[in-house]
Amino acid sequence: MLFEPVSIGPVTAKNRFYEVPHCTGMGWLRPHTLAAMRAVKAEGGWGVVCTEYTSIHPSSDDLPHPSAALWDDSDIQAHRLMTDMVHEHGALAGVELWYGGARSANLHSRMSPMDVDSFPNLAGHPFQTRAMDKDDIRTFRQWHRRAALRAKEAGFDIVYVYATHGYLVSNFLNPRMNTRSDEYGGSLANRTRLLRELIDETKDAIGDRCAVAVRFSADEEIGVDGQPVLGERREMLAMLADLPDLWDINIADYSLEMGVSRFVKEAALEPYMKWVRTVTTKPVVTVGRFTSPDTMVQQVRSGITDLIGAARPSIADPFLPRKIEEGRLSAIRECIGCNVCYSGDSLGVPIRCTQNPTMGEEWRRNWHPEILPPKRRDARILVVGAGPAGLEAARALGARGYEVLLAEADRDLGGRVTREAELPGMREYIRVRDYREQQLREMANVSIFMESRMSAEDVFSVGADHVAIATGATWRRDCFDGERYLSVTSDSGSARVFTPDDIMDGKLPSGPTIVFDGDGYYMGGVIAERLRIAGSHVIYCTPSDSVSHWAGNTSERRRVRSHLARLGIQIVTAHKLVAFDGREAELDCVYSGEKMRLSALNLVIVSARTPNDGLYGEIKEAASGQALPFSLTRIGDCEAPSLIAGAVYAGHRFAQELDSLGESGHHIRHERVDVVTDIKKV
Ligand code: ADP
Ligand code: SF4
Repeated sequence: MLFEPVSIGPVTAKNRFYEVPHCTGMGWLRPHTLAAMRAVKAEGGWGVVCTEYTSIHPSSDDLPHPSAALWDDSDIQAHRLMTDMVHEHGALAGVELWYGGARSANLHSRMSPMDVDSFPNLAGHPFQTRAMDKDDIRTFRQWHRRAALRAKEAGFDIVYVYATHGYLVSNFLNPRMNTRSDEYGGSLANRTRLLRELIDETKDAIGDRCAVAVRFSADEEIGVDGQPVLGERREMLAMLADLPDLWDINIADYSLEMGVSRFVKEAALEPYMKWVRTVTTKPVVTVGRFTSPDTMVQQVRSGITDLIGAARPSIADPFLPRKIEEGRLSAIRECIGCNVCYSGDSLGVPIRCTQNPTMGEEWRRNWHPEILPPKRRDARILVVGAGPAGLEAARALGARGYEVLLAEADRDLGGRVTREAELPGMREYIRVRDYREQQLREMANVSIFMESRMSAEDVFSVGADHVAIATGATWRRDCFDGERYLSVTSDSGSARVFTPDDIMDGKLPSGPTIVFDGDGYYMGGVIAERLRIAGSHVIYCTPSDSVSHWAGNTSERRRVRSHLARLGIQIVTAHKLVAFDGREAELDCVYSGEKMRLSALNLVIVSARTPNDGLYGEIKEAASGQALPFSLTRIGDCEAPSLIAGAVYAGHRFAQELDSLGESGHHIRHERVDVVTDIKKV
């Protein structure tokens, strides 16, 4: 049933797989990168492929987060790149017309953003919106209509009116934000007026050939403990029920809608969605990080949704629909819910994915998620270490047809992911290993040697043509103060200083424990939780102003802090660790230098990692200046400790470039605005 066609107004999706609009860090800045990435999803079988939020006017500009744009006719060609490529694979192309209002800062365009009232910027910038008068509303409707016409000309099949996520149109619907006394405020009919007008006008402008979709929230506000607060949503949707051709439904709490797997599991929106299809006869799409075909079928059968919406599952595996259609379920590269993909948009750089190293590299490096170039000549390759870097290198080399020997010291594959997946909430990370292990087991040209700790001598004796050292990294017992690594403990206290590796090895401290997080991503919080579950009094301490500050890029920072607070973990921010003697820790406020003393028997330092590059160094040394009989490369955390995504990427890149390194023309294509010599002609 997942492959039944679905009519959406004047167009028909060939199946129920619907890639919803999702940000990519590409937008109008990187149209080739964007088009090639979306095209791969169409090739992978998605019936609908949408581009990201698309600004209709320069007064809605989100840089440094790159949105797409349909500001004027010169933007059309960039979108054509994408729609043509998407159509080539038989998919529909969708575009989400966007006006940010109080959520866009217009740092690039420097125009005043408009909203239903004069609000402070909702992204925390110290300036406000202009309250829209009726002329502004009329003008805004014209912008929207013109953008819709451009979208049609650009070849889109589905055009969105975007009425959620705290952007302008949703603020008109919101009874707390919309306190206007004119016909756009007050009653429900008045507050939905703008949305109704936009739907009508978009249909009038392009409805002959394009479907009109509305993105709408199924609940009114973020409820306590995740309980939906329905408010007027049902009534509102009922009033507009059959006006658009499609409802794309999500929820008010973004950190739940696209929650990390640590806190949110597959199909989490189901309780919010139950009523939606009873109110409209039009098709409905929603998301839920669906990777299991059984869950997808159950969602359709039980009337939750008509179309299987996906952002992350389509990023981790652009070929998810085709693999399901062909019954190749074990080949699905399941999303692990880490939200590293989202960090691309947060940081204004092209999207990356932990599971899919080719994501964002389709145009730049000409990488394909399923097809690797065949080897150019026979070679035997030894990969030492089967963490994410080694596993991905072996998998991709195996897929290229090389003879691969993968040696792992441990009795399990997976390296850090196998260890980290045992920590609270981290179970889905094991998918990084499982997908690769499954693939490797099916490759006759790959041999795996478990419990095989390789020495330099062993490596020489293998007789490989190429050797990749992927031996990972080890958490350090000292702290980095911005310039130096400093020990914070005297020798006598060192027995009570632990690292994340100790905790993952099952060496748990007992009694009050400080977890000092100098790393700033998930590990500090997860270790604190692990120890709290084990019954210790835990104090989480960080020199940063916020708990897990880097996790702001993956949209989980707030959730991490509230989770730790609920667990009863004491939180100390903006303090650096100076000393620990086994009874007491001394900390300095990073602003005032004022001292703080905390009593604790144990200290866990989550700081930096030391690359395990001893083997690499020994091999180089053994050659004593002579050429080695094989090429030698260190990859992943052994080269430079990074995210799991970084290790997977390093392994993949090694495999892709093995026989073409250094060749002319082998470089990253550089997406940029072409410079004309005579600027007056621009
Ligand atoms: P990465 O993230 O770079 O893939 P990991 O730390 O996850 O690194 O994995 C490194 C793997 O290498 C671990 O599974 C570890 O057991 C293995 N390993 C380390 N040293 C050796 C060695 N000398 N021989 C074989 N395997 C090794
Ligand atoms: Fe899923 Fe993580 Fe990839 Fe995003 S980066 S699609 S969350 S695996």
